[in-house]
Amino acid sequence: MQTNLSTDIKNTPRGREADAILRTCVHCGFCTATCPTYQLLGDELDGPRGRIYLIKQMLEGQPVTEKTRLHLDRCLTCRSCESTCPSGVKYSRLLDIGREMVAEKVPRTGTAYWTRLALKTLLPRRGLFTPAAALGKVFRPLMPSALASKLPDMPARGAWPIPVRARRMIALAGCVQPGLAPDINAATARVLDAAGISLVEADKAGCCGAVRCHLDDAAGGREDARRNIAAWWPLVEAGAEAIVVTASGCGVQVKDYGHLLKDDPEWRDKAERIGALARDVSEVVIAEKARLLPRLAKAGPAGRKLAFHSPCTLQHGMKIRGVVEELLVAAGFELTPVPDSHLCCGSAGTYSVLQPEISGKLLDNKLEALNTGAPEIIATANIGCLTHLQSGSLRPVRHWVELLAERLG
Ligand code: SF4
Ligand code: SF4
Repeated sequence: MQTNLSTDIKNTPRGREADAILRTCVHCGFCTATCPTYQLLGDELDGPRGRIYLIKQMLEGQPVTEKTRLHLDRCLTCRSCESTCPSGVKYSRLLDIGREMVAEKVPRTGTAYWTRLALKTLLPRRGLFTPAAALGKVFRPLMPSALASKLPDMPARGAWPIPVRARRMIALAGCVQPGLAPDINAATARVLDAAGISLVEADKAGCCGAVRCHLDDAAGGREDARRNIAAWWPLVEAGAEAIVVTASGCGVQVKDYGHLLKDDPEWRDKAERIGALARDVSEVVIAEKARLLPRLAKAGPAGRKLAFHSPCTLQHGMKIRGVVEELLVAAGFELTPVPDSHLCCGSAGTYSVLQPEISGKLLDNKLEALNTGAPEIIATANIGCLTHLQSGSLRPVRHWVELLAERLG
């Protein structure tokens, strides 16, 4: 694609990055076929090619309006388009730049502003969110059903093995997950312990930064990244092999720390190192399959049909495909077919709160697809998808690593 960026942006770091990305797009439109918002809304500007065009216009100095923002806001950042694109266009990076510029040129006001401020104040702070979620569960019968459904009952935190193994890894504690599903990291610790690895958390680490980055606050997201790096660094220097992330939405973010802090000379090198050490929990477990699979085989068939929802951040963001499915089959589950498994469930971070109508339609479609093979249970790999799916499902929705831990006994 030919570009002619305006002089004020052309020679800036983000201008150069955006220009390089735009030039890789050949405008073929293959990506529109796999875009969930284009499929639902049928408007070119609600598909990747149209959004790329809007960002190009903005970078070339044409007026930026509320309509520009509307179409960029409707993007789920699911990155299905990146998986389809034959030219390797880094769409999500371009979208970040586009959204940053829209936030500067057409600042939000009124409800849109206050809603985002409330979300980015509450969600990333574990110390605020966990008691708020506990209180919410108590008063669930009095709450509006849309809000109550976001607080499902999940298993309490189970045992966390004492960290006595010679091999050590660090778990990202995160922000909302400990309040909503406290057993996920503990289950990971039990599975890794069975593989001879101790999992530890660093108290001062918290939100990965994705929440604030996605709510027009890239500077806040970078602050979160620096705080986590500082909390993990002593453990890394002491020999921790990896940063294990159990929410795929956070995994994408931590793996990207090097890029996030590339313009910060003080933190750049450490951020690169942490990003390189970040692993989705499925990558860690599959690497230990020589020890874990024989133990799972001993457990025999689970006798349960299961549908796996692969989050966009797992399959499109980190390009991890088929790994969790392999582990679940090894754990004795019978996997049922899921049509259109590349499509987003509509959770997408805070999207389900900010774009409830589109999100609700995507949820209905996803649950219909997941229920095709009449499973008894649904599994996924990201806390956002888990609570979103559970909000519309009578079948239990669990993180796959909890199921694996149960099978290992
Ligand atoms: S598939 Fe890739 S190259 Fe083609 S229009 Fe979409 S982003 Fe551009
Ligand atoms: S990230 Fe997802 S919603 Fe956004 S343009 Fe790409 S496919 Fe469509």
